[in-house]
Amino acid sequence: MTKRIYMDYAATTPVKKEVVDAMLPYFTETFGNASSPHGFGRDAKKVLISSRETIAKTLNAKTDEIYFTAGGTESDNWALKGVLKSVKPKGNHIITSAIEHHAILHAGEALEKEGYKLTVLPVDSDGLISLEDLKAAITDETALISIMFMNNEIGTMQPIKEIGEIAKAHNIYFHTDAVQAYGNVKIDVEEMHIDMLSMSSHKIYGPKGIGALYIRKGTLLANFIDGGAQEKKKRGGTENIPGIVGFAKAAEIAHENLEDHIERLTGLRDRLIDGLLSKIDYSRLNGHRTLRHPGNVNISFEFIEGEALLLMLDHKGVAGSSGSACTSGSLDPSHVLMGIGLTHEVAHGSLRLSLGDFTTEEDIDYAIEALIPIVQRLREMSPLYPGNN
Ligand SMILES: *Cc1c(COP(=O)(O)O)cnc(C)c1O
Repeated sequence: MTKRIYMDYAATTPVKKEVVDAMLPYFTETFGNASSPHGFGRDAKKVLISSRETIAKTLNAKTDEIYFTAGGTESDNWALKGVLKSVKPKGNHIITSAIEHHAILHAGEALEKEGYKLTVLPVDSDGLISLEDLKAAITDETALISIMFMNNEIGTMQPIKEIGEIAKAHNIYFHTDAVQAYGNVKIDVEEMHIDMLSMSSHKIYGPKGIGALYIRKGTLLANFIDGGAQEKKKRGGTENIPGIVGFAKAAEIAHENLEDHIERLTGLRDRLIDGLLSKIDYSRLNGHRTLRHPGNVNISFEFIEGEALLLMLDHKGVAGSSGSACTSGSLDPSHVLMGIGLTHEVAHGSLRLSLGDFTTEEDIDYAIEALIPIVQRLREMSPLYPGNN
């Protein structure tokens, strides 16, 4: 049997065994509806509250500032639409960045179609926004700044605390999509002046379809789903108790060993980056070298078609992701790679390998050794590759 190595943790992660074990009783035994006043309901309610508490602690937030959602996409949509559509919106203008996840960019564009104003800040070649650009974009109408914590494609980490300080000084809400960052960096919503923060369970070894939005107390935000009294009447619908328990367990595990996790992952990441850049010429790292997700590697190999690279790598048992066309169902390369200024050609030759808790040093070395001949073979077919002339 050929080896199978998963290097696509940024897309999703396997659910950890301890997480599954924690969830199981909530399907069959403690299955009550948390809104029911009887014992079954009270048991469900109890674990709902303790799960909220667990997540709140990881952010230095208060228990009643955590709202469960169906995942990162929903949390992002709620933050953007909720602020502008609240009873007393502070203004009609949102500032965001060019390399946000589509959950933010497309929600912003949908609002723009309804007449709201959207400013999309550019990023530099490392993927960082400029704080000066941010300040210059602020108007009297600005209601919300939404800038992601860590990018899902190139890993770049934004200066979140500095952005929070700017937002606070201007009395503007600050939301951050922390789906990639949560569980991969220490986050403190007080210290960083964050008013809203999106999380997703399936990116941290929890189940899919569950996440949360941290909403600072006092933030004016429209309801996301009208219905019952769940999530303080702001997001109706019977709570997904097994999912919530799994998410809380995953968050707890992630934060018990956060520093070790970051250190181990950073070591693997750097081994992969250094190995690839030193052994394959005409390659470049995308994203900031150090202000970066501990498990993110994104490399462009010039004179190569990323799609072919991905298929050949898959054939060798390594599962990665590309910033090129076909995977995303469009002809244009990723808006993130375009955003950091890559040409179409270079962007098309990009490969993201994202590492996680089950990645080993042997996996890294295997991936490097697998990639060298693949890149070589593909370049032999390229009329542009200098080595062929
Ligand atoms: C995965 C991801 C999302 C979407 O989260 P889902 O739970 O899959 O909806 C949003 N933002 C970022 C940065 C992500 O990586």
